[in-house]
Amino acid sequence: MSCSSSSSASEDEEGFDSYRKGGYHAVRIGDSFSAGRYIAQRKLGWGEFSTVWLAYDTTSSGYVALKIQKSAPQFAQAALHEIEVLSAIANGDPSSSKYVVRLIDHFKHTGPNGQHLCMVLEFLGDSLLRLIKHNRYKGLELNKVREICKCVLTGLDYLHRGLGIIHTDLKLENILLLSTINATKDPIRSRTAPILERPEGNPNGGVTMNIIEKKLKQRARRAAARISGRRSSMGGVGTPKSIRSLDGIDLKCKVVDFGNACWADKQFAQEIQTRQYRSPEVILQSGYSFSADIWSFACIAFELATGEMMFTPKGGEGFSEDEDHLAMMMEFLGKIPRKIAIGGARSKDYFDRHGDLKRIRRLKYGSLDKLLVDKYRFSETDAHEFAEFLGPLFDFEPEKRPTAEQCLQHPWLNFKNLKRTEVKSESGVEKVNVGMSKLQIKVGK
Ligand code: ADP
Ligand code: MG
Repeated sequence: MSCSSSSSASEDEEGFDSYRKGGYHAVRIGDSFSAGRYIAQRKLGWGEFSTVWLAYDTTSSGYVALKIQKSAPQFAQAALHEIEVLSAIANGDPSSSKYVVRLIDHFKHTGPNGQHLCMVLEFLGDSLLRLIKHNRYKGLELNKVREICKCVLTGLDYLHRGLGIIHTDLKLENILLLSTINATKDPIRSRTAPILERPEGNPNGGVTMNIIEKKLKQRARRAAARISGRRSSMGGVGTPKSIRSLDGIDLKCKVVDFGNACWADKQFAQEIQTRQYRSPEVILQSGYSFSADIWSFACIAFELATGEMMFTPKGGEGFSEDEDHLAMMMEFLGKIPRKIAIGGARSKDYFDRHGDLKRIRRLKYGSLDKLLVDKYRFSETDAHEFAEFLGPLFDFEPEKRPTAEQCLQHPWLNFKNLKRTEVKSESGVEKVNVGMSKLQIKVGK
């Protein structure tokens, strides 16, 4: 579930108190599923509903992701729904070319904590959240942001226009690269032999594991050496810890996690989306549609380009998280038109009849452009062009936001000839745009 979290869960671990009746299924490496067809290799990730494992498919002799749902009835119900959505997605896209994850199989697995629905999905790589962490929470180069945006929008266009599905929980964790950032984590690129049985069931199990781990570490060291070699040939001495290169990482990605998705004409939840990616119409309860995904997508694009979340509201004394969130939206994007502000079922909780917030007064109105330049040190040109793309997606009037299809047509996504390079100037490193047709160099004094 996007809005709650288990007490002992942290960002990296799912929390052991959820391994109980009705909760997660505990998996050991080498465990087999579906009458021996799939064998667990390592944990890939987790969510509030499930843990996800890399598994070896003995039938296809390939790797898959095994999503094992918590067992309590509400989770089983959610998994059945997710399977229905994923099946529609797979049926409409047999060649899996639409940048949305593909469902391969599903089955039930009974364990000590109950019966768990399991989904077998195509194996994908790291999430965009891991990509941003890998980049030490610095914004990605805009060309890289563009590449990612195109994939996500293509996926959204398929979901929205092709199938009538709203994702409702778009965020960095729910968009996965097709490949892993670290090649040693990719079972195919690293040519690691699959684990076919539980190590402890095998007298040499412990030894085998040690050998695998050692090999993985060796490979990681060699890969690191290769990368620092490339850097030092560029004139540096060794690799400064603060610099990471994302070059060479394939940025193609797919949308995952359809646990909360719905058909636009069959909605069941009023409160959708994870807080930071939640649209104003959902906070105000004025009804939502595909355009709610476009709002979340815009938050994602901003986060990729800056390395920071666009909205991180916190409740305070005398005002709620919701009101803080609405205040932030207005400070970054301008005032919410009165008609919109007072038009939702919950509007009266936050706005007076003039369309002003009840508890947070004296807002500091700014603009996206200014935020990008002042806080994130974008060049004026970059900020202006990026804000021209992003601004309309943040329209407070949902019907006015461009569709995914329209976003894909925007010139900002199609600046094919622009190549961003870094050049040294006297004042330090400056980012400049080098166009094929025009040469635009701006070096600050
Ligand atoms: P939940 O519904 O519990 O949030 P998700 O579908 O979001 O579950 O999966 C949880 C995490 O598992 C993801 O954030 C990701 O790290 C990992 N994961 C999910 N699907 C895949 C996949 N197909 N390939 C690789 N990793 C995956
Ligand atoms: Mg998730």
